[in-house]
Amino acid sequence: MVYDIVIVGGGPSGSTLARMLDEKYKVLLIDKRNLYDEINFKREKCCGGLLAPDAQKVLAQFGLGLPKDVIVGPQMFSVRSIDIDNHILKYYQRHYINVHREKFDRWLLSLVPQNVQVMTSCIFKGYRETEGNIEVEVFNQGVTEKISTKLLVGADGATSKVRRMAFENDKLPDRYVSIQKWYKTSKESPHFISIFDEEVTDFYSWVIQKEDYAIVGAAILDYANANEKFQILVEKLRKKGYEFGKCIKREGTWIMRPRKLNQINLFKGNVALIGEAGGFISPSSAEGISYALKSGAILADCINHSMKNYGLRYKRKTTKLRINIFVKNLKSLLMYNKFTRKLIMKTGVLAMEVHKNVY
Ligand SMILES: Cc1cc2nc3c(=O)[nH]c(=O)nc-3n(C[C@H](O)[C@H](O)[C@H](O)COP(=O)(O)OP(=O)(O)OC[C@H]3O[C@@H](n4cnc5c(N)ncnc54)[C@H](O)[C@@H]3O)c2cc1C
Repeated sequence: MVYDIVIVGGGPSGSTLARMLDEKYKVLLIDKRNLYDEINFKREKCCGGLLAPDAQKVLAQFGLGLPKDVIVGPQMFSVRSIDIDNHILKYYQRHYINVHREKFDRWLLSLVPQNVQVMTSCIFKGYRETEGNIEVEVFNQGVTEKISTKLLVGADGATSKVRRMAFENDKLPDRYVSIQKWYKTSKESPHFISIFDEEVTDFYSWVIQKEDYAIVGAAILDYANANEKFQILVEKLRKKGYEFGKCIKREGTWIMRPRKLNQINLFKGNVALIGEAGGFISPSSAEGISYALKSGAILADCINHSMKNYGLRYKRKTTKLRINIFVKNLKSLLMYNKFTRKLIMKTGVLAMEVHKNVY
């Protein structure tokens, strides 16, 4: 059988594309995760699971609201910014929704219509172009299979194999290793915490509470020393009075940080990229869910119009998204330079007062 479209990855970008493609197309979505099984998730996405206002807006534009079992406590209305480099602490109002990331992905996948074939626990191994079609090799339930398709879409995230194969000579975005450790906690933190500390990273670190766990995370460019740097972060937070109990889980993955517009790859012939695979993620905050949803929806719109010249339409319609990433890079220049950050934080612009004895 020849598919019209094979999508690699059932994260927010891949599920959105699959959900929005026209019924006239024969579509297959594959994901290496066991996204349908009842058993505990073997390959969870390492993520902070905060839905930013941009992501909330896209969901609203899709006509979607969140089911309640996707939401986790506590819901936080502020960020506590700890600038260790400049010894400054400030609070800013934020409007995130705290979600269970795996349940969020499973919910998005559950919205994909029946006409789309979905294969989970199925690993994309590679592809080669044949006459007019693309032959995709997958490892499905212990067996290697070959699948034919007209169009291949890489929605396979930061470590995208589709991208590495299709754009092997192009420059990737800066690749950070991100580590998250889940610590048992008995305290409730009403803030999302962001930490700026050059000794740990030139990007940032965070603490996010999910029910009885405090997730400590960091995105670190120097991956050779990432574990040591992460430990420095945890010790510094402990010295500041944060109580982290037993560590019950450690996660790690790459996180992309596109610094130049040519680090975003959209399509090459009949291979297209969406979401973080294409480099769509904020270089200032690492917020990626809104970009994944948007790029998935834009590509669906372009393909639904026609598969012919879909790439040029995709390029044109993602212009705003790419400009947005460019602007976030300018913001990064101010945020991640300790002198400009000091000036901005000292002025207290947009900051708010918080009662002193709050944890
Ligand atoms: C530590 C961390 C914290 C983050 N926190 C936030 C946050 O709080 N809020 C936010 O908005 N963004 C956050 N992000 C970014 C966000 O997680 C991503 O940008 C977003 O998930 C991208 O969606 P996607 O669909 O493009 O890719 P992904 O969500 O990465 O999905 C890719 C899918 O492809 C599958 N896949 C990969 N390779 C293969 C293969 N070879 N074969 C088959 N399947 C494959 C994976 O299993 C996965 O399901 C964070 C990222 C990291 C690393």
